[in-house]
Amino acid sequence: MLPVLLVMLLARLAQNPGPRITVVIHNPEAVPAAVLPRAQTLAAHILSQAGIATEWRIAGPGDIAPRPDVIPLHLLSTRPVTLRRDANGYAILSGERSYAGVSWPAVQAAADTLDIHEATLLGAVMAHELGHILLASPRHAANGIMVTRFGVREAQAVGRGELGFLKDEVRRMQAEAERRCAARR
Ligand SMILES: [Zn+2]
Repeated sequence: MLPVLLVMLLARLAQNPGPRITVVIHNPEAVPAAVLPRAQTLAAHILSQAGIATEWRIAGPGDIAPRPDVIPLHLLSTRPVTLRRDANGYAILSGERSYAGVSWPAVQAAADTLDIHEATLLGAVMAHELGHILLASPRHAANGIMVTRFGVREAQAVGRGELGFLKDEVRRMQAEAERRCAARR
């Protein structure tokens, strides 16, 4: 009897692995076509390690007022003058209407300085900005992916697949993602 229950439980866990957030990309043409899928894969991996499953798609006409479980991510072909000098992206925090943006020229320049692949840094920056939204906070951490500024230490860690969210961040992000998924229903 027990093994059957165990199998049923595992099957349920497989069907419901946790909250699933949709990331909708606006202006994908800001980034080279070969770079974006690699960056998306890395960002999705970093978020999945925090227990957040993500689905990614390109924005369409129906994406003007996104559902609570959808986060808009804007890719920019310019570097906004309002962007802090050492920043590669931004998160506009406005409850369920929050959205993020990443500047491709800023990522390119930082990737060059840090001697890291552009797609890798783009993926890490995407995960960082989505992190702000799922943490509902502009605050930064001393370690992990939510540091104020990616340096050599973070570049090396992301290269090894070891740059991620801290335990406390994971807990808060999961709660926010669960809340957003529940608000959708
Ligand atoms: Zn930040």
